[in-house]
Amino acid sequence: MSGPVTDADTAPVAELAKAEERTLEVGDSRETQVGTVWVRRALPRRERRTVGAWCFVDHFGPLSVTEDAGMSIGPHPHIGLQTVTWLLAGEIEHHDSLGSEQVIRPGQLNLMTAGAGIAHAEEHTGNYRGEMQGVQLWVAQPQATRQGAAAFEHHPELPRVDLQGGTATILVGAFGDGLSPARRDTDHVGIELVLGPGTTLLPLQPEYEYALVVLDGSISVGERLITPGHLAYLGDGRDEIDLAATARTRALLLGGIPFDEPVLMWWNFVGRNREEFETAYRAWAEHSDRFGDVRSGLPRVAGSPPLWSRRPSG
Ligand code: MN
Repeated sequence: MSGPVTDADTAPVAELAKAEERTLEVGDSRETQVGTVWVRRALPRRERRTVGAWCFVDHFGPLSVTEDAGMSIGPHPHIGLQTVTWLLAGEIEHHDSLGSEQVIRPGQLNLMTAGAGIAHAEEHTGNYRGEMQGVQLWVAQPQATRQGAAAFEHHPELPRVDLQGGTATILVGAFGDGLSPARRDTDHVGIELVLGPGTTLLPLQPEYEYALVVLDGSISVGERLITPGHLAYLGDGRDEIDLAATARTRALLLGGIPFDEPVLMWWNFVGRNREEFETAYRAWAEHSDRFGDVRSGLPRVAGSPPLWSRRPSG
């Protein structure tokens, strides 16, 4: 049996079609090892290189650490990017070639700007035992600052915005009526969401593209369930989004104006061409002043020369 299709029928269908037009691409993170720690790498992926200026998202843990066996990544170089370190549990000590020494704990932000070159080490503090979990993100620097001075910032407290179903902590950029004090060279935002059971309506900026990375728990966007180990790319053009959680959930919302410069990544470097990587790698291998020295008990990470520049053997 079939009946006439009335306005009462078509309206919801049209609404649904409109909702379905909105981008929602859920990609898998790649499991990889950084030092001794397994991470879920949500960015970059073959199908998605950047979200705004965000170009790298590693989620590590939860894992158990002891006083003498935790994070231990020896001195290594960076160029052309900012590292954003955010912990959910545990503590890490940061050492860099500017002379910065800083312990970071949950709720605090470490933001290191590489510019033309910096080196750093990330170590366990020697007095923490328990669970460790966190993220390290990279932001591609724009042409205006990427060959400029290196810098380091630590923010012990960040602004929070109350949501209908939870709380947003603003790591970088602006959200609601809050603004992070962290340096920002492009128009982008990074927020940690802590949601309780129920639905939360988040205000978004239509000119930004966004992605969601669930750290623990799960979030439903429409019919899709987003869990840890994925990047949910939300596209641009949204002025709000409904997120539904069934239990306490933590997630990162990353966004920004789509990055309009070509971003190449190799090893710990972000640049625009291979020559930049070859030059930076050589400077690191030759212990040049470009990267300076890091006070650390850990061995320097040597890396290997770029594959494309090695002479064919035999
Ligand atoms: Mn690093």
